[in-house]
Amino acid sequence: MNELQLGDLNKTDENSAMVLLVDDQAMIGEAVRRGLAHEDNIDFHFCADPHQAITQAILIRPTVILQDLVMPGLDGLTLVREYRANPQTKDIPIIVLSTKEDPLIKSAAFAAGANDYLVKLPDNIELVARIRYHSRSYMTLLQRDEAYRALRVSQQQLLDTNLVLQRLMNSDGLTGLSNRRHFDEYLELEWRRAIREQTQISLLMIDVDFFKTYNDSFGHLEGDEALRQVAEAIRQSCSRPSHLPARYGGEEFALVLPNTSPGGARLVAEKLRQSVAGLGIAHNSPKEGSTLTVSIGLATMVPQPGSTARQLIQDADKGLYSAKNNGRNQVVVGAS
Ligand code: GH3
Ligand code: MG
Ligand code: MG
Repeated sequence: MNELQLGDLNKTDENSAMVLLVDDQAMIGEAVRRGLAHEDNIDFHFCADPHQAITQAILIRPTVILQDLVMPGLDGLTLVREYRANPQTKDIPIIVLSTKEDPLIKSAAFAAGANDYLVKLPDNIELVARIRYHSRSYMTLLQRDEAYRALRVSQQQLLDTNLVLQRLMNSDGLTGLSNRRHFDEYLELEWRRAIREQTQISLLMIDVDFFKTYNDSFGHLEGDEALRQVAEAIRQSCSRPSHLPARYGGEEFALVLPNTSPGGARLVAEKLRQSVAGLGIAHNSPKEGSTLTVSIGLATMVPQPGSTARQLIQDADKGLYSAKNNGRNQVVVGAS
């Protein structure tokens, strides 16, 4: 339910009542109608056919049902049970109208689900008082239910919004990969886990080759597009949920590989290097007819207690530096 509907419900006067009388005798219907005619805010509907009662109740949505017990063809108590069994009428207050004050009938009526018991024809003051009382408590119940429903909806919306916000906060605008902030957080988390469990953790540092000349030759927008394609190749190279690809800054990317050996990391790195080259993004450096490539530095450690992830980054950086110096478009393992 949205705010508007809740507002509407709040606006409906909780003192107003909608009465549905189900009685086979038109005379009773007429008498009750007359009794309620001068009451403010009480609408009255009369249903003389008990077989139409449920349909009428669903249609009219009464806040109180006055239910005759003895009718030809359908027992009033059976009808009370049917109101209670129907999701659309199950909470509507029911005042049973009986012909006599009989403890047996009375207890059967309450057992069937009636809320009140009156001997007809009741005194008008008492009838009106009971109608107003039951109607008001029913309206309060409806309002409370709607308020809860609205609360649940807005709580869910808040959760969804927070999720979207979290995703936005963690991701890089250009490539959609994790940003530097999230990379730092994640590496720190996995670093501490690797310390606790004494497992290997690997890191790839990935840098686009001759990217300055790419920008200079083809323009910044083309450069952005190339970065997006490289980022997608990096994302595709992640084969486990624990792999975290990130934009480290500028045209430099990083890939965290928890629980990964040097051999496993080298495999990922080599496949990635080839898939970037395989994109076939035309470039003019180092020479005319070249395609865009990346250099990758790689490091693996089983971190010791008290150490920091900076060591791993530095080692991977050394590998990257060597890869650049050795002619680019290659993977080099860095070590301290
Ligand atoms: P190397 O092979 O040694 O890595 O050379 P390089 O030209 O790639 O390295 P350098 O660090 O000299 O240049 C990096 C370039 O990346 C410079 C900068 O303009 C460009 N760059 C950084 N971020 C972005 C970006 O978001 N979009 C675009 N189009 N270019 C970027
Ligand atoms: Mg570069
Ligand atoms: Mg660079």
